[in-house]
Amino acid sequence: MNQLIRCIPCNEIFARTPYDQWPEYEYVSGSAPEPYRTVKKDEFQVFLKHHRNHPMEDLEILEDSFVSEKPYSEPTKVSYFKATNGKDKFVIKRFRKRIDEPLSYQLIQGDYSLKLLRFEIQPEEIIKQLKRELDNPPLPEHQLEAFLKLYQQVLKTIDIKNLERIPEDSTHPLEIYYKMDEVSLAYLLRNCRVIFKGQEYNEIEAFIHRQREDGVLLLKAIYQIQIVEAAQSKKETLPILHAIEGKKYVEKK
Ligand SMILES: [Zn+2]
Repeated sequence: MNQLIRCIPCNEIFARTPYDQWPEYEYVSGSAPEPYRTVKKDEFQVFLKHHRNHPMEDLEILEDSFVSEKPYSEPTKVSYFKATNGKDKFVIKRFRKRIDEPLSYQLIQGDYSLKLLRFEIQPEEIIKQLKRELDNPPLPEHQLEAFLKLYQQVLKTIDIKNLERIPEDSTHPLEIYYKMDEVSLAYLLRNCRVIFKGQEYNEIEAFIHRQREDGVLLLKAIYQIQIVEAAQSKKETLPILHAIEGKKYVEKK
């Protein structure tokens, strides 16, 4: 899957073929009957001409490294993914300023990580759902609040690393939902016995079981992309002729 070609001295890249599995790739509106723009062969020739005699290398894209700051459906978003030449790591920034423009690629030497910004319960959704499901008779306000407070307390004891991610629940790439683990569930149920008695307890227990797998009791984490640029290696400041180990692509005549 060698689709990225890097000109080593210029630090520019060319993306040779589309990644068909990425749904938003090269989508151009209004260009039916061929909505997926294909990269023209002569664009590659232009790239080769521009970087004639420069050493080049293939970059391998690291699988599952694709991240973006905006919803998947947003066509003009900035995305990042990781690639490597086998030795150095790169972050590729992919973007377009307008929907009818082709995608641009920028090479950043370094790496990125996802930083956890917030980890939270979904209070409004929980209250709404409790009022909807436990309405005969409705739960008094102080019990609703006590439940939220308790769930906040449970959240504080949870290590996000132990949780199972629910991938299909988010339309935003940096908002991820998690299912509470068994230990936290037991902790929550045990403490619910203090707030709810008898039939009320049975109802809240059933509610928790209904909502924890894919409902309002999912825990929400918000991440941020952090890019760490690596210091430029000395090799890159040497004249082009010295970088002989690079691969050369030959222009077609
Ligand atoms: Zn070049």
